Amino acid sequence: MGEFSNRSVAIVGSGPGGMYVAQALLEKAPGCRVDIIDRLPSPFGLIRGGVAPDHQKTKRVDQKYAQSITENESVRYVGNVALGRDVGLDELNQIYDAVVLAYGAPYDNKLGIPGEDKENVYGSNAFVGWYNCHPDFKDLGPNLEIGNAAVIGIGNVAIDVARVLSRTPAEMSTTDIADYAMDSIEAASLKNIYMFARRGPLEAACTNNELKEMGVLEAATTVVDPSVLPAEMPEEMDDREKKVRARIVDTFKELSQAKAGEKRRTVHIEFFASPTEILGGDKVEGIRMERTKVENGRCISTGETFDIPCEMVITCIGSRAEPIEGIPFNDRSGIVEHEEGRVSPGVYAAGWVKRGATGTIGTNRLDSYAVTDLLISDFAGDPMPGPNAMDSLVCDRDLQAVSFEDWLVIKDLEEKAAIEPSPRKKFCTVESMLEGLNATR
Ligand code: NAP
Repeated sequence: MGEFSNRSVAIVGSGPGGMYVAQALLEKAPGCRVDIIDRLPSPFGLIRGGVAPDHQKTKRVDQKYAQSITENESVRYVGNVALGRDVGLDELNQIYDAVVLAYGAPYDNKLGIPGEDKENVYGSNAFVGWYNCHPDFKDLGPNLEIGNAAVIGIGNVAIDVARVLSRTPAEMSTTDIADYAMDSIEAASLKNIYMFARRGPLEAACTNNELKEMGVLEAATTVVDPSVLPAEMPEEMDDREKKVRARIVDTFKELSQAKAGEKRRTVHIEFFASPTEILGGDKVEGIRMERTKVENGRCISTGETFDIPCEMVITCIGSRAEPIEGIPFNDRSGIVEHEEGRVSPGVYAAGWVKRGATGTIGTNRLDSYAVTDLLISDFAGDPMPGPNAMDSLVCDRDLQAVSFEDWLVIKDLEEKAAIEPSPRKKFCTVESMLEGLNATR
């Protein structure tokens, strides 16, 4: 029993933002009881449903997260229980001393241009969720029987999407990509993927390691027009930034040596191009782009446009949180309203719902630790009832909450269903996860 054993905290969302709050509580508030509530039976948010299937090494951080739960009796996983659907924030507030909102930013930003509602236009969360077996997106059914696709943006998500669309079954054999997605990508007539960056190579949002992967694809070539690459780094750029940017520009230079059409698919990276309209009838037939220039890092319109024929558009332009009734929301930035992590008395925000969809998995660690410090410093007054009251609520509402032990059973079923060297064959629906679990009882 620790000093904080009369306190309890609910963390809503088991992605990196929430899991680092759990870890911080274990270190800084020993004994404090922690319930990690997630709307899906499967834990760890973007680690499972967002990180690219061919980045299994990155996904292994889930082992550390799992340890925080399995090695500590004070921490529980309460899966398949959704805030806003099964339980209200006011109810959690009456049960726990603190509630941490860490439910991420899973909604795609919109371009806000004509034609965005056409068939075969997708946001990256939906598209990535589709190939990652996310229950919300397994039925997306993108039509890949096309010649050209446009990917908007040049962040790491755009790189993930272009890369996964270019991979072969052999390259993906060690991954947990959805079978239906791999089959569809392999059978696709898709030849060209145009990645459009509205600014230049010096402003590209991707990181170098991710960009480098585009140069070593088995069945796809990535090409860049060498004439748009800067010969030198700008004088005014600080030294650290210069170093980072120079590496990225060098990678673009390496990519610029390749020729379009050398392999089955070609990824064309196009800088200084911003979409103004998605063309066609009900279906996408092309995209109208405006040539841009960059001044002081800012994207400036030139008025000059060009059209690229394509039959699919995937926007990879960032994402936003879901507004939930009763939780103050900043619609402009797509995050929960808060002051340094404090949302309202006893309610805090962490992860992307707090900061917006930026940064690496590790960025969440520092941020979640800081929010946890605040939360602990706010503990005051009589302790709230805690996890037993949550159990009563789950029981009264006849919810099938999934514990971590339950999840380990589902995980084991997924691993047993995989064909080596794939690590797992994911269940793609909540129902199939629960059926699998119930069948073992
Ligand atoms: P991001 O890094 O913010 O990139 C968004 C891209 O969309 C940028 O190129 C941006 O251009 C462009 N964009 C935004 N609005 C646009 C508009 N209206 N029209 C045209 N282009 C527009 O976002 P992300 O790729 O979704 O990634 C989110 C975070 O997750 C990032 O921090 C990323 O590094 C991280 N992540 C990391 C990995 C990895 O480490 N392997 C993988 C996936 C994601 P501007 O720059 O001009 O705004």
